[in-house]
Parts: sequence; structure tokens; C-alpha cells
Amino acid sequence: MAVGLLRAVIMGPPGSGKGTISTRILKHFALKHLSSGDLLRDNMQKRTEVGVIAKSYIDQGQLIPDDIMTRLMLSELKTLNRYHWLLDGFPRTVPQAEALDKACEIGTVIDLDLPFETIKQRLTARWIHPASGRVYNLEFNPPKVPGTDDITGEPLVQRDDDKPETVVKRLKAYETQTKPVLDYYRKKGVLESFSGTETNMIWPPVHAFLQTKLPEASQKEAATQR
Ligand code: AMP
Repeated sequence: MAVGLLRAVIMGPPGSGKGTISTRILKHFALKHLSSGDLLRDNMQKRTEVGVIAKSYIDQGQLIPDDIMTRLMLSELKTLNRYHWLLDGFPRTVPQAEALDKACEIGTVIDLDLPFETIKQRLTARWIHPASGRVYNLEFNPPKVPGTDDITGEPLVQRDDDKPETVVKRLKAYETQTKPVLDYYRKKGVLESFSGTETNMIWPPVHAFLQTKLPEASQKEAATQR
């Protein structure tokens, strides 16, 4: 195993701002970002063997079996051996975390910890006008009159996916699936939780924490040539 290279995982429920935080990390630090979802979509698009299998699970809203997922990620990680890296979307289960541990030692797990209510509010904020497809967000671009389309005055609706009961189900599923993984890393002493209600509150401590582990992007070349 390479010594001194960052081996990190980022975890956070849907709506936690994980995508935004990951983008900011990549902008500031020289490291490779490996997202299991992106890797699967890439395989599906290229119709690889794994891609074809993955599609059948994803279409049914199910997780890919651990052995397939682990093999895919570990073989991709081999190509990143010389770099600092951050995993996103993997591991999702304890067997995946255990398999990852056999290949390398995870030094840091960044856990984005937002109140359940905040996330629910964010995820249920989207309303649409079905006839035109106009999209409103109660937080960022609310309609002028609550519940009605600005142009036609017709009622707005929520997609099934965005309805509170569906959102709560998705969040609960994340919790049951992921809590054991968080507990696993907490026991190992590598879990770093960052709490807050807004991405702009959470980002500065994440940034400060990573500065203690990594050179800033201005030193990108030095970092990747190690
Ligand atoms: P994501 O973009 O991370 O939400 O991933 C999209 C879908 O890919 C998920 O809903 C799962 O079906 C599958 N997937 C992604 N990562 C994993 C993983 N670590 N284990 C099992 N399935 C996964």
C-alpha cells in the first residue's frame, strides 16, 4: 500500500449537498474522485458485462450485489494507486467496507450530518406545472402566489419522487443501509462528522480539515507526481 496518500470516503444522504461539497473538494485539492454511481452509469452506457448486470438492478431501484460492486471498485482503485483519492457512493454496506479494508486502509471518512427535517424540506421543495414543465423551488425560486403557476395561475403539483412520504422512505432506506457503515468506521476511529443545516456552513470546516491532510490545488503537480 502507498504510504502517505489520502484514502478517504465521503458519505451523506440524498439532499445533503454531497455533490456540491465533492465538487468544492476537487477544486481545492489534488485528488481523484471515484463515484460508484458514475462508474456504473459509464459501464451501462458502454454496455460492458457489469453495465448490463447493473442496469437490471438499478432499474428496479436495488443495490448492486456486493461482490460485483466490490470487484468493480477495487479494480478501478488499482489504477489510482499513485494518487490521493476520495470515494463517493462506496462502500454502501458493511461487507463492501470490509472488502475495501482488505485492499487498503481508509484513513478518513467525511460524514455530512444534516438534520432529517432540513433534508426533507430541501427534497420536497420542488413543485412543477405539469402542462408546461415549469419547475419551481420553494427555497430558490418560489412561485409568486404559493401553489400556482406564475404564467397560467394553474395549480402546481409534486412529482411522486418529491412527495414527503416518498422522500421520507428514501431517507429511511439510506439510514438503515448506511448507519452500520458509519458505525463501522466510527469504531475504527476514522469517522469525521460535519454538522450543519447549509452547505455554506459545512464547507469551511471540511476545507480546514482537509488542509491538514492534503496540499492545496496550487501544489497539484507535486501531489500527483509523488
Ligand atoms: P448513486 O448515483 O450513487 O445514487 O447510484 C445509483 C445507483 O447505483 C444506486 O441506486 C444503486 O442501485 C447503485 N449503486 C451505486 N453505488 C452502489 C454501491 N456501493 N453498492 C450497491 N449499489 C450501488
